[in-house]
Amino acid sequence: MICVLSGGTGGAKFVDGLRQVMPPEEITIVVNTGDDLLWWGLSVSPDIDSITYVLSGLLSRERGWGVKGDTFLCLQAMGQLGEPTWFHTGDRDLAVHLLRSRLLAEGKTLSQATSTISEKLGVRARILPMSDSRVETLVDTPSGEFSFEEYFVQRWYQDPVNSVRFAGASDAEPAPGVVEAIVSADAVIIAPSNPITSIGPILAVPGIRDALLRARGKVASVSPIVGNAPVAGPAGILMDAQGLPCSIAGVARAYEDFLDLLICDVRDARAAEALRGSGLRVQCSQTIMRSAADRAELARTVLAHTVRGPGAGQTLSENSSSDETAAHDADQP
Ligand code: GDP
Repeated sequence: MICVLSGGTGGAKFVDGLRQVMPPEEITIVVNTGDDLLWWGLSVSPDIDSITYVLSGLLSRERGWGVKGDTFLCLQAMGQLGEPTWFHTGDRDLAVHLLRSRLLAEGKTLSQATSTISEKLGVRARILPMSDSRVETLVDTPSGEFSFEEYFVQRWYQDPVNSVRFAGASDAEPAPGVVEAIVSADAVIIAPSNPITSIGPILAVPGIRDALLRARGKVASVSPIVGNAPVAGPAGILMDAQGLPCSIAGVARAYEDFLDLLICDVRDARAAEALRGSGLRVQCSQTIMRSAADRAELARTVLAHTVRGPGAGQTLSENSSSDETAAHDADQP
């Protein structure tokens, strides 16, 4: 059993690699919910949706979010009604938000709603929200404090950032199964996700850091930072705001209390050598995931360095999608 901690973009690409090289039933993904928002009165969980869509084969690879081939008629109609349209939700995507909202209104937890939706979409891996309680990532800027989606999508992450906080985190509990999944996994893999706003909220839930410290398997992270810059998105600005250098050393520092192994890009070979001096195990590999084959290869490499035995490094299904495009690094809607 492999446990992955993930956001919704770099994380989804990595999860796509994993599901190609091992049985999906053996993967548990603990997903960030700090970006969740109420949109037109509906409960939207952007990272859970991306992970659900990638695992059900529905994710739009061109956009990197939402459902492939989706239409946007409702968005258009809402615009005509004078409603906000900065957060793009396709029509099929909306069906998922409607179902989630109904399940939550009936008293189901986010975990239960997530499991119902993923089951209906044929997902065989286990997707767990980090918590069933509301934890909200808030980004403080000179223009005010914004939710993550306001900062990222509405304002195109153009604001300088003073700090980031996770409202509600101190009162939150890990969702059922999260601590057990981390502690008992053969390996815990921190996906190449934003260390501040994707992995940060997960680590801010009391009990999760402790579970990582108690993990039976190795804890490895794939760096989302390559050559002192994020592959895409605002991770550099946000790391800087939180006092971390935008480098593989900054990623290592974000996870220093529990990390056994850092997988970084071959381009960071020199920085890797310096990090090894501090005692951390660092492995250089090709980490840019442009194609399905890149993703599978990275997943295979990570498994080979963290677990041994069945599944490690063995390709079970090369179900690489035929709709690959070069535009995989779009880290924005
Ligand atoms: P979010 O929820 O949309 O913020 O998605 P994630 O946090 O899962 O992913 C965003 C991070 O993924 C960014 O910091 C990127 O640098 C990183 N990323 C995106 N694509 C790649 C890739 O192909 N390789 C690596 N190593 N990192 C990537």
